[in-house]
Amino acid sequence: MTDVEIELTSEITVRLIQHMGSDQMIAAAAKVSTSPEEARALETVESSEGLYGLIRYLAKLRHTSPFEHSAITFYVEAPIFVFREWHRHRIASYSEMSGRYTELLPKFWVPRASRNLIPVPGYKAARPIFGPAPSALRAEVQESLGDSYAHAWETYQSLLAQNIAKEVARACLPVAVFSKMWVTANLHSWLHFLSLRVHDPNAQFVSYPQAEIEQAAVQVEAVLTSLFPLALRAFNETGRSF
Ligand SMILES: Cc1cc2nc3c(=O)[nH]c(=O)nc-3n(C[C@H](O)[C@H](O)[C@H](O)COP(=O)(O)OP(=O)(O)OC[C@H]3O[C@@H](n4cnc5c(N)ncnc54)[C@H](O)[C@@H]3O)c2cc1C
Repeated sequence: MTDVEIELTSEITVRLIQHMGSDQMIAAAAKVSTSPEEARALETVESSEGLYGLIRYLAKLRHTSPFEHSAITFYVEAPIFVFREWHRHRIASYSEMSGRYTELLPKFWVPRASRNLIPVPGYKAARPIFGPAPSALRAEVQESLGDSYAHAWETYQSLLAQNIAKEVARACLPVAVFSKMWVTANLHSWLHFLSLRVHDPNAQFVSYPQAEIEQAAVQVEAVLTSLFPLALRAFNETGRSF
């Protein structure tokens, strides 16, 4: 083990940057099909239960375009392996800090204490379920990862000190190194993201996401629930399939 100063963390940060739209906006967009002139005044005429009935109907029948007139932007700080999964969601816009232009952070991911590590007997790739590791093995995992990250960081710093381009020096860093991004998507797209990145055994299509992207996705879901309570209620009551 070297004495290089690096930060080891299991925390993944998700923060709201901005949002546009509301539950009322979803219903208003739906009303455009029958009464386009009056649609915008919907928030003044619909009771909360009437509003919920319409939003639930839209979710149940997968009339999804009214959910696309709202947009939400999040700031995310997570290891690169989480970003690799996240960036597969193409119906979103991303801006990420650049390892070409900026020195990366000495911040690396280690598993949370509660994170299961060992594949259970009968493990299948389609249903990846893990059990706990013995505490000595868990400690060894943390130490090995920490040693490996420290070595990688030392190499990175040594290359930078010799004036090697950042875009080349970064090649020695592992996917556990943290990055930062903004991600913007419409509400339809965010609900689709939640359907795939949060495990819910009661969902119509049960997904088995990796624990760390789920750790981020549950934070996204909490923010969306506070901004669009009726849409998130309808999403949950109609099987989380979007
Ligand atoms: C549990 C889990 C395991 C996974 N395992 C793997 C894996 O082993 N290997 C791997 O490569 N990926 C894997 N993925 C990624 C997965 O295949 C999707 O790429 C990812 O979930 C993004 O989903 P999406 O395409 O529906 O989302 P988005 O890209 O946001 O697209 C949203 C919707 O837009 C439409 N759409 C977007 N682009 C196209 C297109 N080009 N053509 C047609 N329709 C389009 C589709 O209807 C799509 O559902 C995994 C995902 C999950 C959740």
